[in-house]
Amino acid sequence: MYDIIIVGAGPAGLTAAIYAKRFNKSVLILEETTYGGQIINTLEIENYPGYKNISGFDLMTNMYEHAIELGSNIKIEKVEKITKEKDIFTVKTNNNEYKSLSIIISTGAKSRKLGLPNEEKLIGSGISYCAICDGNFYKNKDVAVIGGGNTALDDATHLADICNKVYLIHRRDTFKGESYLLDSIKNKSNIEIITNTNVIELIEEDNKLKEIIIEKENTKSNILVSGVFVAIGQIPSSDIEITLEKDKQEYYISNDCKTNIEGLFVSGDVRSKKYRQLTTAVSDGTIASLGAIEYIDKIKCDKVTE
Ligand code: NAP
Repeated sequence: MYDIIIVGAGPAGLTAAIYAKRFNKSVLILEETTYGGQIINTLEIENYPGYKNISGFDLMTNMYEHAIELGSNIKIEKVEKITKEKDIFTVKTNNNEYKSLSIIISTGAKSRKLGLPNEEKLIGSGISYCAICDGNFYKNKDVAVIGGGNTALDDATHLADICNKVYLIHRRDTFKGESYLLDSIKNKSNIEIITNTNVIELIEEDNKLKEIIIEKENTKSNILVSGVFVAIGQIPSSDIEITLEKDKQEYYISNDCKTNIEGLFVSGDVRSKKYRQLTTAVSDGTIASLGAIEYIDKIKCDKVTE
């Protein structure tokens, strides 16, 4: 029996573990793949206080080692179901079953896909969801970025410095991303902005992306590109079987990271909230952990006085 089981080893989960261990709680982290979350793929982070510039890999490795050196256990298993009976949570994974007094879900979010035929097949051969990770594979080539948020604008700016030409394709005529980012796009001569347009087909040749078919006001045309960077937002990793309240986009609803199930907390990008940043994930991890610690101390104290 653990005091706290943390699901997910990204910035929120690892921060929660660090706080819990410093309060001498027993901690098990269950992670489906590897530590670090999405940010581990970011080449340069320049907005994490205390580091003027650090790679996602270095920052997340530091956080991971910090959590492990304080005595957190970690297992690579996928959590499938969580139930609660009296004060005890049971966590069922693909391999095992674990029990705890409290749970923190920090499973993050994943890139949304276009849902086009060929998309899955061409991942790594023309389709990417991370311009920072994969941009260099398309040096001096023509590429497209799809999306209208901050990620798409950031990606287009980054790729313009590496690639020959960047088509920024957005389905509306106005961008959701911030105006200062749009201004920097407009200053790049090799970015062509294409609005009110949908990408409707990904054409391959010899198992590599060759061109895309776009549609604008019922007129179809093609663009030859070697790479497409899909930047159309995130979907939460909130598929655990559990009776938690979710918002319309399937993010877990919480109040100060507390959920509708007492003793179960959510933190990081999987939580319904406005701003999803590294710093807000870390903040959530802290709040969820302190909430869990307070909850555990209370139920242990209640048991002693019974
Ligand atoms: P986002 O803000 O949700 O934007 C997603 C964009 O993709 C929207 O423009 C949306 O179009 C479009 N889209 C969604 N589904 C689509 C589909 N099926 N086909 C075509 N287009 C589609 O996502 P994001 O840009 O990844 O940003 C996520 C969060 O991270 C935001 O809070 C953002 O501010 C933050 N972020 C910040 C920075 C920064 O501060 N520099 C950098 C990156 C991300 P509609 O406009 O039509 O809905």
